[in-house]
This record gives sequence, C-alpha cells and structure tokens, in this order.
Amino acid sequence: MKTIGYAAQTAGAPLVPFTFERRPLRPNDVAMEILYCGVCHSDLHTARNDWGWTLYPAVPGHEIVGRVTEVGSAVSRYKVGDAVAVGCLVDSCQECDHCHHGEEQFCSNGRTDTYNSPDRISGAITYGGYSKHLVVREEFVLRVPEGLDLAKTAPLLCAGITTYSPLRTWNVGPGSRVGVIGLGGLGHMAVKLAIGLGAEVTVMSRTKDKAADALALVQFQPTSCSSGGSCSQP
Ligand SMILES: [Zn+2]
Ligand SMILES: [Zn+2]
Repeated sequence: MKTIGYAAQTAGAPLVPFTFERRPLRPNDVAMEILYCGVCHSDLHTARNDWGWTLYPAVPGHEIVGRVTEVGSAVSRYKVGDAVAVGCLVDSCQECDHCHHGEEQFCSNGRTDTYNSPDRISGAITYGGYSKHLVVREEFVLRVPEGLDLAKTAPLLCAGITTYSPLRTWNVGPGSRVGVIGLGGLGHMAVKLAIGLGAEVTVMSRTKDKAADALALVQFQPTSCSSGGSCSQP
C-alpha cells in the first residue's frame, strides 16, 4: 500500500513529505489509518541522529492512534473500524523468557522498534507514525477504550506508558506517596496517573513557574475506566 509521511532525509534538514510503501498484510497483521500521532523527544533525537544510529530516510512517531482499515486472515482481536493504538514497539520473537513475561522490550532475539529498526522478516527499516497508514502485527496493537478523545490518547503511548509502568511495578495505590521530579511531558502524566491510582503526589521543580499547573493537576479528577474498556468522568 502506498502511503505518505514526513521523513528526515539527513540529520540537518527539516522533515519533508515522503511517499513510501507499507507492506502487504501478513496473516497476523492489522492495517490502520493514522488519525493522530504524538511528538516525543525521541523522535527529535532520531531525526537529528543524536544517538548515532539513525538510518535515513527516517519517519519518526511512536504515539500512534488510528482506525483499523483491514485485517489479516488470522487476526481475531480487531475488525475494520476499531479505534486502535501503537506505541514504541511493533514486534519481538514472542518465544523467549522476556517475551513470555510481558517484557518484549528486552526480547533476547531483539525487539523491533516502531521506527528506525529492521523488520524481523523482511529486514526493511520500520517507518513510524508521522504518516497516513501503518501495518503492525496484531500482538502490538492496542485497543482504545470507548469514550476517550483520540487526539488526547496519543501521548499515552510513550509518555503515558513510561510513567505508568514504574507506578504499576511498585504497586502504587492508596497510601503510596509519589514524588515527581520535573513537570514536563512525562512528569505531568506521572502526576495524573499517580493520582488516578490513589497516591499522594508531590511535584518537585527548579522554579515556581509550574506551581499553578502542578496544583491544578493534583486536583485533577481521574477518568475511571473498567477493564472492559468503557470510561466515565466522575
Ligand atoms: Zn517516545
Ligand atoms: Zn523475545
């Protein structure tokens, strides 16, 4: 499938429109039209080759929300029209210890990042969410719960999970005290998530400029979501 995105062609040039092919669907693939994609600082590091491993052209974007347009013959969890999301990973071996423990990011056989990473089967370099369409294997597609604003959902896919993961790892809940250092892209997510989990939250910042925002977030009323996926604002 032909699609269009924005690519960095070199470390020094602005991103420019870039036409490329998304792969034909494998049996376990989901195709989606991308509706929103967050901007993560990792996108900028990649575009500018700050880490020294960028392969050009590079299409960044790993906070992706869209709607399913087609599914492969073996896909069981999604159907055309579903609201779905994709984060930082698009594949892993699914067979090693790490994969079996839900830690695909540490896959012993090498994870596949959403962009700038070789596809496990074809070896083609992955292109991310600064584009119109995406094809991803079913296991790395997430369902967006009914009732969420799709544009506001996108940043949950990297900034959100980066802060949600440690809060869950350390069983944060009622009675927990959480300190958040820095109220930026990730920090404000951490505040909202920790409050949503029932913790007492303290924000630490180098300046007083963010005090009002921090207090507004601390008074934030969490949206409650059932495990079935429906959400409501109290
Ligand atoms: Zn990111
Ligand atoms: Zn693995």
